[in-house]
Amino acid sequence: MNEFGLIERLKVFQNLSPEVPVGIGDDAAVLRLDARRYQLLTTDMLVEDVHFTRDVLPRQVGYKAMACSISDIAAMGGLPQTAVISIGVPGNIRQGYILQIYKGLHTCARAFGVSLVGGDTVRAPKFVINVALLGQVEKKYLVLRSGARPGDSIFVTGPLGGSLRSGRHLRFIPRVKEARFLVAHFKPGAMMDISDGLAGDLGHILRASRVGACLQEQAVPCYPGVNTRQALTDGEDFELLFTLTPAQSARLAARGPLSPLAACRCIGTITADCGRLLLQGADGRCRRLAARGFVHF
Ligand code: ADP
Ligand code: MG
Repeated sequence: MNEFGLIERLKVFQNLSPEVPVGIGDDAAVLRLDARRYQLLTTDMLVEDVHFTRDVLPRQVGYKAMACSISDIAAMGGLPQTAVISIGVPGNIRQGYILQIYKGLHTCARAFGVSLVGGDTVRAPKFVINVALLGQVEKKYLVLRSGARPGDSIFVTGPLGGSLRSGRHLRFIPRVKEARFLVAHFKPGAMMDISDGLAGDLGHILRASRVGACLQEQAVPCYPGVNTRQALTDGEDFELLFTLTPAQSARLAARGPLSPLAACRCIGTITADCGRLLLQGADGRCRRLAARGFVHF
């Protein structure tokens, strides 16, 4: 059973109404709000021994749980607002552990202006935490995965790879500031956050936009000690992946070192070759790349 194959099959059960312009398939669902704005809704779950182990500081687990959901709201161009938290609690867990989880949740929520307003508490064989998060976005600023066009440049907001090994996945900063600056000044064609690895997640943009892409191997920004293959597939980076028209790319290239987008790098180009992902090496030769990232089960 493949995570994305399963989600595809679950789509037949989604009963969209005119109140829901975008349902399954993007970083968050898009709900009608008023003439000027949309509401955004996303949910993310972390499970003990799948996403973290008991020896990870609970404060960090809580921080990450909140940060993952905030990252999905940022990926739509929005601002996060209100969260409910559900936890599954094994019998062998101390209350202090849960309070530390909440300390982490609260730290992240406060940093991004999110209110914690409720949740649910149940018994479970392993510790489980789920953050459901509402956000908002001005209609003119909404960015989906489906708006990439041939000729667009592809960007990432920062270096990739080695996130799990380095522990960076527990303390990453959701790219809300960058996303808001982007939508206000550039309006990307497509955008998403990189949770499952650059190659796999770019695959989602290619499918949603019915386009292909060619990445420049030399241009993919890697963390120190990380090679390009790892940067392409490791996952849990939580940087934003977005596309800009050539004219917008030229404007971005002219940004100063103090711009919120200073760490953004152009890594390739969108092509008309639907679904095909290519990697061009330093020698100029192109190889086909599997648009496959980290699959959670
Ligand atoms: P992300 O990594 O951005 O959080 P996911 O890969 O978890 O996104 O999910 C991709 C899309 O599939 C999202 O639109 C999400 O709402 C939807 N989705 C995931 N799991 C389910 C599910 N069990 N039922 C319905 N929709 C789902
Ligand atoms: Mg996402």
